[in-house]
Amino acid sequence: MQIKFEQKTLALKHPFHVSTGSKLSAENIFVEITHDGITGRGEAAPSRFFHETPASVIETLEKIARLLGDDPFLVPSIAAKVDAQIPGNSAAKAAVNMALYDWIGLRLNLPLRRYLGIDVGSHPICSSFTIGIDTLEVIEQKVREASTEPLLKVKLGTPEDYAIISRIRELTDKPLYVDANEGWTRDEAREKIDWLAGQNVQLIEQPLPADDLAGTRWLRQQVTLPLIADESVKTAADLIQIGDAFDGFNIKLMKCGGITEALKMIQIGRWLNLSIMFGCFLESSLAISAAAPLAALCDYVDLDGHLLLKDDPFIGIEFNQGMITLTDAPGLGVRQRD
Ligand code: MG
Repeated sequence: MQIKFEQKTLALKHPFHVSTGSKLSAENIFVEITHDGITGRGEAAPSRFFHETPASVIETLEKIARLLGDDPFLVPSIAAKVDAQIPGNSAAKAAVNMALYDWIGLRLNLPLRRYLGIDVGSHPICSSFTIGIDTLEVIEQKVREASTEPLLKVKLGTPEDYAIISRIRELTDKPLYVDANEGWTRDEAREKIDWLAGQNVQLIEQPLPADDLAGTRWLRQQVTLPLIADESVKTAADLIQIGDAFDGFNIKLMKCGGITEALKMIQIGRWLNLSIMFGCFLESSLAISAAAPLAALCDYVDLDGHLLLKDDPFIGIEFNQGMITLTDAPGLGVRQRD
């Protein structure tokens, strides 16, 4: 297998702020794996939170290239071999993993969901649309721009949390997800979640610091809204310890290392009776199209990263008023925008 990669700067429509930092653009790495005349594509969105940079992704891809072998159909074994030899670096692993699945789908002329046996016929995939932390004026503008989106995910974890939600509630009564990105203390979280429960908020993502599982366990006994782990859970191995602290967890391809691991997390999550969200980083339609079929197996979906980009370099899934439509094209169903 031949692997090629290229770094691209993806400008954002608006600067994106969360409680842990800000971004004006995303620096993602695009991967092509060619074998037998077929090229599968993947994307890595490196995360500062996980100590990843474009340079560390490229360095990891060079190491992974030596482990690929010559049979893309062995993708689960390739993922296991890569995990055994290279710790962490999940964004690079995700890019390679999705490129191998893309290759298989292209080779078999099957969309990924058909190859994985995912039934998406029974219910449409409805995604939230994210509103980052900003001034009240900018938040108001973003909420107005998102008037056709049925479901908003609001980033909190600031002294302005009450003011942000109150302003949004002056504009719309649509359901909200709230993501605190570890931004609250224990007592603050209890007080704010009590209030948010009366504001048509459906769930709270990562209220407390990732390693404060004892605090989250306590919090879960105090509040009624479901608590969803994001920063507290990267891979399937993390699910064992969060069971009594959270009601569910958020899977992201860039956190877990790809489709192979995400499928494992969905199976284990169901067995543990946890609810499951499928989320993303700032990703183009390429990585979003790899996540979308798996999102059909989940309870909550937050796959809007590509909508926050000014120029999406790929065309893939359709996203219309919060409803995701998968294409029938083979593999990930993506093509480069002209
Ligand atoms: Mg989150």
